[in-house]
Amino acid sequence: MMRDLFSVFIRAISFPGSSVRSVWSSCSVFMRKEGEIASPPDGDKESLSAATSCNCHPSELFATIEELKSFHSEEYIEFLKKINGLTEEELLDEQEEEMEKYGIGYDCPFIPQIFDAAAMIGGATVTAAKALLSGEYEIAVNWGGIKRMAFCYVNDIVLGILHLLQKYKRVLYVDLDLHHGDGVEEAFAHTSRVLCFSIHKHEVGFYPGTGLLNDIGYGKGKYYTINVPLFDGIQDSQYIELIIPLLSKTQKKFQPDIVVCQCGADTLAGDPFAAFNLTLRAPAECIKLFKSWNIPLLVLGGGGYNAVNTARCWTYLLSLLVNKTVESDIPDHKVGKRSLS
Ligand SMILES: [Zn+2]
Repeated sequence: MMRDLFSVFIRAISFPGSSVRSVWSSCSVFMRKEGEIASPPDGDKESLSAATSCNCHPSELFATIEELKSFHSEEYIEFLKKINGLTEEELLDEQEEEMEKYGIGYDCPFIPQIFDAAAMIGGATVTAAKALLSGEYEIAVNWGGIKRMAFCYVNDIVLGILHLLQKYKRVLYVDLDLHHGDGVEEAFAHTSRVLCFSIHKHEVGFYPGTGLLNDIGYGKGKYYTINVPLFDGIQDSQYIELIIPLLSKTQKKFQPDIVVCQCGADTLAGDPFAAFNLTLRAPAECIKLFKSWNIPLLVLGGGGYNAVNTARCWTYLLSLLVNKTVESDIPDHKVGKRSLS
């Protein structure tokens, strides 16, 4: 449903001769320097159109095994591949034991085509990163999210940043999601080339329980991790007053060559987590700030468990990225035909 809503909302933004292409699980948008929206560099238009209409997807947008192994262990990736074609009933006892070892279960449950899903999610972000690396694009967006499906299985953000480090010396990663960006922080905690800045709820018993003020990185990466743990209830004005100056100071001091922003929408009022009390204004101010720095920008989806609010949020952020005003008149549409949630 999330993707359907987003597709509908995105049509409300009037792109002249719209060449926006949505990829199976995610709505990926690539913007050329002159502000023109373009289809991804690696996908041909016909296959992408087909992917949108028939629910298949162009294989060239999948992460390769080698790309997945650039961060994840070979054993883990091979295991995902081994159980890819199985249904839950077909899993052997030893495979179930191995799943437990890798943390597959509970809120990261087994899903059919688990490897394909992981390769697709990883591939969407890697494709976006490659678009920026090509120098042909200055903003790339992958709005994949949808209740974190498949994000549990591979860390697409780390895969994307590893690609960006081939060209960019300093990457600023900003995590706006309600939950601490623990996976990305851990991956780059020892380097001074990636500064991880996470704003999140922190409370005893709230997942993942990490991201305290004094978590600042290790070794060469010491002071290149910034955590802003917050209690419930923060509103736009407090958030903006706190976060925007912190981000500005971080940018001045760190001088990033590129920004990667995870725009989880579970901070919005109305999300089932009911923690922060933000409107679209708060993430919008962050996006406006990043744009004002005039450096390449990779924008990613994330959490967001109120599908309508999440679609509204990401549509609005996209409209800011492409300098368009969203019409308040939403076109008639059918929702749920290709539901993923
Ligand atoms: Zn979250």
